[in-house]
Amino acid sequence: MYLTKHEVKHFGKAAIVASVPVMRTILQLCSENQLKEDDVLTLGITLEGKFLEFPTYRTLENFLANGVQPLTESDKELMAKIDAMSISERWNFWTAELSKCIKCYACRSSCPMCYCNRCMVDYNQPQWVSVPSTEIGNIEWHLMRAMHLAGRCVNCGECGRACPVDLPIHLLTFKASEEAKINFSAVAGLSMAMPSTLSTYKPNDKENFIK
Ligand code: SF4
Ligand code: SF4
Repeated sequence: MYLTKHEVKHFGKAAIVASVPVMRTILQLCSENQLKEDDVLTLGITLEGKFLEFPTYRTLENFLANGVQPLTESDKELMAKIDAMSISERWNFWTAELSKCIKCYACRSSCPMCYCNRCMVDYNQPQWVSVPSTEIGNIEWHLMRAMHLAGRCVNCGECGRACPVDLPIHLLTFKASEEAKINFSAVAGLSMAMPSTLSTYKPNDKENFIK
């Protein structure tokens, strides 16, 4: 996220040693016009310890076409458990989990795709989301967050790791990404020219989610 900041950009081209989620972040930021080709030189190290240099974003795209980081085993397990729930069980599960949120916004601060200068939750005229932690206010905050990251989340898992009360909120955005992939063939962070999932309309888009 700091790569988008003027204070960093004015130093000139940055070199960054990137894990796969960071590489995906760079491509996604480029597709959202937050980074240009010349802004970043990406370096990487394979699991076998081989040094990689990606002189262009195209070479990064080619590398990522070989596959992206899967969920951890424990996340896979929890995701399968959530997927197996009925809609009301799932609602109860997330309502109970999100009621523990203390609205510290560490998840927002750690997210490489949350780069707005001023987040909606910080507005008070009008006040979109309640400031204190309340059951309904927490649901509002997390629904809004998941919506804003649908088709944009690069599945780095940082929001879940940053959460001081261990909420598995990275699985909410993971699920939204999965839906974007299944329904709109949109996968974030694999292309420097991916159209925005939420604001791109095609006449043959599925509308079965409107009920
Ligand atoms: S996993 Fe969380 S922190 Fe990472 S991009 Fe997705 S929403 Fe942001
Ligand atoms: S990091 Fe956790 S507690 Fe803090 S706002 Fe995000 S979900 Fe809530």
